[in-house]
Amino acid sequence: MKIVIIAGGQGTRIASVNSEIPKAMIPVCGKPIVEHEVELCKRYGFADFLFIIGHMGDQISSYFGDGKKWDVNIEYYQETQPLGTAGALGYLKEKLTEDFFVFYGDTIIDFDMRSMLNYHKSKKADATLFLHPNDHPYDSDIVDLDAEGKVRKFFNKPHEEGFVSRNIVNAALFIFSPKILTQIEVGVKSHIEKNVLPRCLDNGMNLYGYVSFEYIKDMGTPERYYAVCDDVKSGKVSRLNRSNKRPAIFLDRDGTISREVNLLNKPEQLELIEGAAEAIRLINKSDYLSIIVTNQPVIARNLCSIEELEYIHASLETMLGKERAYMNAIYYCPHHPDRGYPEERPEYKIDCECRKPKPGMLLQAAKDWNIDLSKSYMIGDSDRDLKVGQNAGCKDSIIIKTNEPNALLNAIKEIIN
Ligand SMILES: [Zn+2]
Repeated sequence: MKIVIIAGGQGTRIASVNSEIPKAMIPVCGKPIVEHEVELCKRYGFADFLFIIGHMGDQISSYFGDGKKWDVNIEYYQETQPLGTAGALGYLKEKLTEDFFVFYGDTIIDFDMRSMLNYHKSKKADATLFLHPNDHPYDSDIVDLDAEGKVRKFFNKPHEEGFVSRNIVNAALFIFSPKILTQIEVGVKSHIEKNVLPRCLDNGMNLYGYVSFEYIKDMGTPERYYAVCDDVKSGKVSRLNRSNKRPAIFLDRDGTISREVNLLNKPEQLELIEGAAEAIRLINKSDYLSIIVTNQPVIARNLCSIEELEYIHASLETMLGKERAYMNAIYYCPHHPDRGYPEERPEYKIDCECRKPKPGMLLQAAKDWNIDLSKSYMIGDSDRDLKVGQNAGCKDSIIIKTNEPNALLNAIKEIIN
């Protein structure tokens, strides 16, 4: 399987760090960014590279040569004119006859490549996009997925005022099948995110999103550059690889993050409790995943539909996003065990395994995200939250007072500091 690295970027915005070399050659901890990518691929057994180079690309080709020094094979395609992120791929149809990875050469990443590839294969996808929540969804390219992970729609920036969505952002790393190349016009300037993928979607191709919490950052600005260097040095970049178990902080929703109102069932009822966004921001900066686990019997009681509940969660994620905080995942139990209400939906009136204090949601999350429950915490405002943490084998459960300002923040500070 080939790895295509798009390394034509000039690096104008990072000129204060170094303007004389192409972006991909900017040194991070003593070696070019793109060398970190080559080593990652090599670690997963991928040794066949195709570098797309442009302006000052000879610096890349003279550094890497044919790749022997790294025990890999590197071929080059030299762009004669800049054709956007996708244009050059149009010329490479004969070289790319099987599925291939696409990386940008200015990105520091460490992710479980096999896991993403297995996902891609299991979905029989024409393209799989590496996605993640970030701390600025309001000015990011958002991808709307269905419950199976299939792309429904792209919402590229800039967004309209009042735009509401889940915080699932295109992180610019892909697996493509050769089919995708049929949507690229030869010799015409185009971009993967802006032009090619929307066109593929319009033409009925199967695009899937692979949502990850692993490290991926580009060198867009000097501040980001220095942050990335620190993260490589501290070991954070490799530590967040999915193959390493991670701890999580599980959070109840109502009364813990958003103000408790009896049976919340409309987005306009949502209101963040003071300090909640800051608390989640602290989690996001730590190694813990931030995951909501919430009982939502409003579904069983037919007070709102699954679609409406998901819109409520998108609204919550949008509110948090404006505060630069994000959830890694949201799990909810739509069930309720007691029958006998006139308006109820019987299919949800079951004694399920997910309603807290049963540990189903936490166990599912642990499976989905490779979480170490014994190092994880549960925080909520009820006895059920206390018990679910115990039932799932969490390190500790912390009970805070319903709707209390800064209660969550103080609890998080206690854990993290
Ligand atoms: Zn349930």
